[in-house]
Amino acid sequence: MVTFELLDEPDSSITEPSTALRRQIQHLFGRSLHIRHVDAGSCNGCESEIKLLTSPYYDIHRLGIFFTTTPRHADLLLVTGAITRAMVDPLQRTYAAMPEPRLVVATGACACDGGIFGRSCLTLGRLSAILPVDTYIPGCPPTPLALIHGLLLTLGRAEQRLHRQILAHHADGKA
Ligand code: SF4
Repeated sequence: MVTFELLDEPDSSITEPSTALRRQIQHLFGRSLHIRHVDAGSCNGCESEIKLLTSPYYDIHRLGIFFTTTPRHADLLLVTGAITRAMVDPLQRTYAAMPEPRLVVATGACACDGGIFGRSCLTLGRLSAILPVDTYIPGCPPTPLALIHGLLLTLGRAEQRLHRQILAHHADGKA
C-alpha cells in the first residue's frame, strides 16, 4: 500500500529558488520573462525536457516565465542543437529582432560546445561562435531543474550587465 505524508511546511530547498527567481524576473523585466526557443540542429532530446517546464509539475508559468514564438516579444533566446550552418542566419535575425536587454542561453551540450556532433562541415559546434552567450546550461539533455537553475544564473548575469550599462552611462556624463 502506498501512503503519502502531508508536509506542514513546504520544502525550502524548492520554494527558495523559485521565490528568488520570481523576484529577479520582477526586478529586471517587470512581471514576466518571455523566452524564444530556437532549435538549431537538436536531436529533440533537449526539447523534450524544455517541454516539461510548462507541465503542471514544473509549471514555470507560476514564476512569470512564458514561451513566445515572436522574437520581438522575447527577453531571452534559448538555443538548442549543435548550430547547423543553415540556422546561422535565422539565429542572427532572431537575435537582431529582440529588444534590449536581451539574453542568450546555450542549452544542452550541443549548443555549449557541439556535444556528440561537434564541429563539422554542417555544424559550427557552439553557439558562442555567432552570438554573445550569457549562460551555458550543460547536460545531454539538461533536466528541467537544471534549466530552471540556468535561468536563475542568467537573470543574475542580466542584473550585472544592466548595472554595467548604467555605470557606463554615468561615466559618459549622461543623466
Ligand atoms: S545536448 Fe544531447 S539531447 Fe540535447 S540536442 Fe544535443 S544530443 Fe540531443
